[in-house]
Amino acid sequence: MMREDPPVRFLIIGGGPAGTAAASTASALGADVILVEDSVLGGAAHLRDCIPSKAMAAMSIRMNAIRNSEDLGIVGGGAGVDLGRLADRIQKITSMISGRSTELLQSQGIDIVKGRGRFLGPNKAAVMVDGTERTIPFDAALVSTGSRPRVPPWARVDGERLLTTRHVYDLPAPPEHVVVIGSGVTGVEMVHIFESLGSRVSLLVSRHHVLPHRDAEVAAALEADFLERGVSLLKGARAVGIDNDGYGVVVHVGDGRRVEGSHALLAVGAVPNTEGLGLEEAGIDTRHGVIAVDRHQRTSVPHVYAAGDVTGQMLLSSVANQQGRNLARHVTGHPAKFIDYSNVAQAIFTEPEIASVGLEEADAAAEGRKVRITKVPFTANPRSVIHGSTRGFAKVVSDPATRVVLGGTIVGHRASELIGILALATRAKVKVQTLRETLMVHPTLSESISDAGD
Ligand SMILES: Cc1cc2nc3c(=O)[nH]c(=O)nc-3n(C[C@H](O)[C@H](O)[C@H](O)COP(=O)(O)OP(=O)(O)OC[C@H]3O[C@@H](n4cnc5c(N)ncnc54)[C@H](O)[C@@H]3O)c2cc1C
Repeated sequence: MMREDPPVRFLIIGGGPAGTAAASTASALGADVILVEDSVLGGAAHLRDCIPSKAMAAMSIRMNAIRNSEDLGIVGGGAGVDLGRLADRIQKITSMISGRSTELLQSQGIDIVKGRGRFLGPNKAAVMVDGTERTIPFDAALVSTGSRPRVPPWARVDGERLLTTRHVYDLPAPPEHVVVIGSGVTGVEMVHIFESLGSRVSLLVSRHHVLPHRDAEVAAALEADFLERGVSLLKGARAVGIDNDGYGVVVHVGDGRRVEGSHALLAVGAVPNTEGLGLEEAGIDTRHGVIAVDRHQRTSVPHVYAAGDVTGQMLLSSVANQQGRNLARHVTGHPAKFIDYSNVAQAIFTEPEIASVGLEEADAAAEGRKVRITKVPFTANPRSVIHGSTRGFAKVVSDPATRVVLGGTIVGHRASELIGILALATRAKVKVQTLRETLMVHPTLSESISDAGD
């Protein structure tokens, strides 16, 4: 009788979307998995970043709906936000999601170790458990320790007046006037949240429009909304310093401008959590703290993988999760699967929401590539008119010769949901006339996507 190989001993450090997905898949495929997490399963994504910010955005959507409901015949609005109740709700949501994740992994027999993991060498790691160091030998390992908000050297974050996104959920009351520094995805989502809480908001935009890496048209739609809501936009304003006297802040801009506020929020990117992990001891190369990986997510040490934000690839939960699943197949000797990074659906949870997938018009222009663009404004969509939210458009990018859908952008209510149709169309290489001929429910927002297939 043939003897079976022993299961691969697979150690995972960091239990966010990348680590938990890798653990679950590898275990299902026969690996012996140990998952080390020093905080909460689900990771920063569930505890402080992705999920709580979307729970805040849910409040913003309702608040905006209430504010703009007079046209629908609803009177007597005047709603306010109880931050304490909102924080309790967020806490319940995060514990529920994290609890489910823990139950699932435990039901698979995964050894979950609470503590801080670090490598002792290329096949050995250690974790402190209740004051005792536990040594863990492994055949394969994954570094999925995530990232944290970047804090520039001139900023002294105190969590009270000068904040990062991780402090937003613990504020005792809505700030009177927040100066948001950074107008990328996180910055603009935070503007939307604070304004809905009733705070006055000033946004420092370092270039000439918000979302500097996106279509100017997309940025213009968002800026129009912000201006209508009374947000001050300071263009060409790069922060270089902050004074915080405990009662308020003054943000200094490179050109000499000063912006006063009760609070300031930094939204200027993320840095990978790769310090103190013993990466050098294991021989794992990093560049500016980021772990370089190949397409199988292998580091410079081939049996040690890295996934999620530590790799500095697309900093998205969805990507981290899929990377985790894919590498688990590789670890357990199953046929490899790869992410098509050119076709990842993304969204910005503002109002209007902004979502995109595949090739966007601006990318095509930058590449000098000829594309066919069809664009339908939501003013032409009966459901948008009925709902009283007509801002935005659906834009489909296709190949002028083959008419195959290459991607698109949606700006508008529920764009983050609608983009799924275009994501599928792009992945399946559907032709625009198929979009056109797909009969959507009438009246719905989806009809604008088939209309953009014209
Ligand atoms: C404000 C905000 C909003 C976001 N919104 C979205 C969104 O809407 N959609 C989306 O797709 N993405 C969103 N993201 C991005 C998303 O949160 C990240 O891409 C995702 O969290 C990355 O997952 P990860 O598995 O790499 O790490 P993380 O989720 O950061 O988890 C890493 C885990 O590792 C643990 N850890 C670290 N070091 C050690 C150690 N030495 N030992 C043991 N454990 C350790 C940490 O405690 C943590 O739990 C958002 C990010 C921010 C900041």
